[in-house]
Amino acid sequence: MSLPMTRPLVFTAAALISISSGSLAGCRRSPPPPAPAAASSAAPAPFVEVAVTVDDLPVHGPPPPDGDRVRMIGRMLDAFHRHGVPHVYGFVNGAKTDGDLGLPEVAGARAVLRSWVAAGHPVGNHTWTHVNLLQVALPDYLADLERNEPLLERLVTEAGGRLTGLPWKVFRYPYLFEGDTLEKRNTVRAHLREHGYQIAEVSIDGEDWAFNPPFARCAARGDQKALSQLHDRYVSVHVDELRRMREMTRLLAGREVRHVLLLHAGVADTDALDDLLTAYEKEGVRWIELGTSLADPFYAQDPAQPVRFGAAFPYLVARARQVSFPPSAVMRDLERSLATICSASNGAAALTAAPQPPTSSTP
Ligand SMILES: [Zn+2]
Repeated sequence: MSLPMTRPLVFTAAALISISSGSLAGCRRSPPPPAPAAASSAAPAPFVEVAVTVDDLPVHGPPPPDGDRVRMIGRMLDAFHRHGVPHVYGFVNGAKTDGDLGLPEVAGARAVLRSWVAAGHPVGNHTWTHVNLLQVALPDYLADLERNEPLLERLVTEAGGRLTGLPWKVFRYPYLFEGDTLEKRNTVRAHLREHGYQIAEVSIDGEDWAFNPPFARCAARGDQKALSQLHDRYVSVHVDELRRMREMTRLLAGREVRHVLLLHAGVADTDALDDLLTAYEKEGVRWIELGTSLADPFYAQDPAQPVRFGAAFPYLVARARQVSFPPSAVMRDLERSLATICSASNGAAALTAAPQPPTSSTP
């Protein structure tokens, strides 16, 4: 069975611009909304606390060049260990472990999860099949979420005492889709609350997943120059997004908040992880656990925004408060420009192409 690995095309920078500016088609002639009184940016702190999370375990995107996902995850775990990143939540889609153990992909998927928890890293729920809240009825969505639970419970049991105090009832919405109507959104949230779940919101989303297909294409070509450029771009995009979300959340909260970084278990992620962690440390990042980050009161607020696309939590807060903070020009163009790299009609040149000029729709 093939699972959707990336977000649908509805997740676009244009959508984020709409979120952050609060502007809608047909409303552009309206006067800009009043700036909330509390929205005044605080000075940056000398350091910032960040929790790392990894989505789509055990299988995300194209396989590594040697086909060995267990070894690939081992490289991720080694990087976390070297940098002292504590208790990285891996959000699991159990469907990849379902089937005949004689099949290499099924055995490999189970081995990936075993190695994750054996390294002392916790697991959380990302639904059984990475189900899309925009495309299924609510009962089916909740059933898919529940279907994942026995596997998570078993993994924690198999890990012995290594995951004590690290509950598996932590939920990451696939595609970050929290509901396109308030009714749908509130029903899922009520279900999670009643079943003892915590929602793992995201504050830094550098669209890492979009780097994985071009990485696989360039690796298949043996194009080392393109791979190196892709690696550097992955790091720089994530550093820029860290700076940007620090600025945005200081504007929204009036102080430095704790952050949650979203990564995926993919080939480009693995390739760049060590350098990404080093670059973040140079930015003043201190690694913390997800639970510590989510205990920041910033995440206790409910922006109550129905949206048809996935967006990091600060964008929803900005939308609720009518604070304009459009995404960067690089992020607006990222998915499109990555799609051209090592594609049939393009070489590495697209990596160094200038980003599209901003097309802000802010009134
Ligand atoms: Zn996912």
